[in-house]
Amino acid sequence: MISVFGSANMDLVAYVAQAPKRGETVTGHGFRTVPGGKGANQAVAAARAGAPVAFLGAVGDDGFGAEMRATLSAAGVDVRGLREVPGPSGIAHIVVDDEGGNSIIVVPGANGAVTGPSEDDVRTIAASQALLLQLELPLEAVVAAARAARASGVQVVLTPAPAQPLPAELLDAVTLIVPNEHEAVAITAAPDPDSALDVLLERVEEVVITLGSEGALYGSRSGERLRVPALPVRAVDTTAAGDTFVGALAVARAEGLPPAEALRFASVAAALSVQREGASTSMPTRAEIDAALL
Ligand code: ATP
Repeated sequence: MISVFGSANMDLVAYVAQAPKRGETVTGHGFRTVPGGKGANQAVAAARAGAPVAFLGAVGDDGFGAEMRATLSAAGVDVRGLREVPGPSGIAHIVVDDEGGNSIIVVPGANGAVTGPSEDDVRTIAASQALLLQLELPLEAVVAAARAARASGVQVVLTPAPAQPLPAELLDAVTLIVPNEHEAVAITAAPDPDSALDVLLERVEEVVITLGSEGALYGSRSGERLRVPALPVRAVDTTAAGDTFVGALAVARAEGLPPAEALRFASVAAALSVQREGASTSMPTRAEIDAALL
């Protein structure tokens, strides 16, 4: 089993020719709500890639919360650890203009009320093969979950997004860190992803840096280095490519695949997702990944 302790957000996406300036009202030409949040996305990705997954987090007592719970359940994710707290669910208010530019307001809502794993959460984490973490919950909650996992000998996979300074007590508990190239450079202040990999390996046992259509870099303290190309596909929507990659990578590792094969499994899953519109709806099933790996 894989546990995800993380965020669930409803993305509210409005499409408009040009984003409004202060005081201005404009008419848009499209709107959709998309269940997201890096935690929920990684949980759905891992479940679709074939693992039992438990999601630990919080939604509000509004309609968005009910919808996010239903979306996770429909993907086969165990939501018994998804708490409902008074007040609004987390949302991301996204304005997309006709040039593809966007501006985003994230209101953490219920995600901000998570102060740490509950006793039940700690039991679920201890029974897992891996715990997936991101940085969309309060940092002290993420640190507490990471330490609980490490105390039980459970692997901790951290996606350090949104990028921010990482306390030593968090890095000390992380087994594998998976930043994208921008996060890797921001966190380490290194000039490029290759040097960022070296800096991160001083603190963490294993590092994967994703490079979008350029693929991914892998390094481990044992000295293994890999450069895994992305699959040459026509990308129509790269939303949540990184979350699909991490969810699938965790599944492959839990099944005991060595790094090169686990990275290929993750790259295939992410390449399938970028060829389809949407976030969780674009994530491939295990059958689709296996067929593409042949
Ligand atoms: P997001 O924030 O959209 O979730 P990210 O910035 O975290 O993405 P990326 O580095 O863009 O993550 O992509 C993650 C992985 O997805 C890459 O390592 C690669 O395997 C795959 N991928 C991304 N873009 C493409 C693409 N255009 N073609 C094929 N594979 C892709």
